[in-house]
Amino acid sequence: MERVELGRLQVDLDSRSGRIQLVMHGQLDEHSKLAKVLDEVGETTVIDLGDVTFVNSVGVREWISFLRNLHARGVDVTLVRCSEPMVHQMNMIIEVQVGATVESFFAPYECGSCGCESSMLLEVDAYRSKLEQGQPPPMKCPECAEDMFFCDLPDRYLVFLQHSRGVVGGGNA
Ligand SMILES: [Zn+2]
Repeated sequence: MERVELGRLQVDLDSRSGRIQLVMHGQLDEHSKLAKVLDEVGETTVIDLGDVTFVNSVGVREWISFLRNLHARGVDVTLVRCSEPMVHQMNMIIEVQVGATVESFFAPYECGSCGCESSMLLEVDAYRSKLEQGQPPPMKCPECAEDMFFCDLPDRYLVFLQHSRGVVGGGNA
């Protein structure tokens, strides 16, 4: 495993499993010169965004440029564990996920019993039809094991799932 430091963003490159995995930690901002890791990427690349804690407008541009370059190279990109800040960006800007498949993402949940709030990981394929109908599944509370409920507006938070279809290519959808 190799770590690349890009300002406030650290990128771990892991090729042990056969497909390249990039694990990003920290902030996507003006220092996130992702072009520096372009050549590390293989034909099939998984990008783990679970620890991306903050994204600003310049960081989004760096990210979109990175994804476009990957797409131009024919790289098959899967985004996993998209953090809540990344999901907010994907909801605002279609191109934040252009050409990539979102496999899993975090969403805000609150326990109806103990009030615990937590960011829960949702696998898109496991819940796809429900999610596309704006119905996030209940999750089990890590504190008390009762049902937790989604605590954002589904129509707003899950918009990116509509974007993820049919916008591969020009990006002017
Ligand atoms: Zn609870």
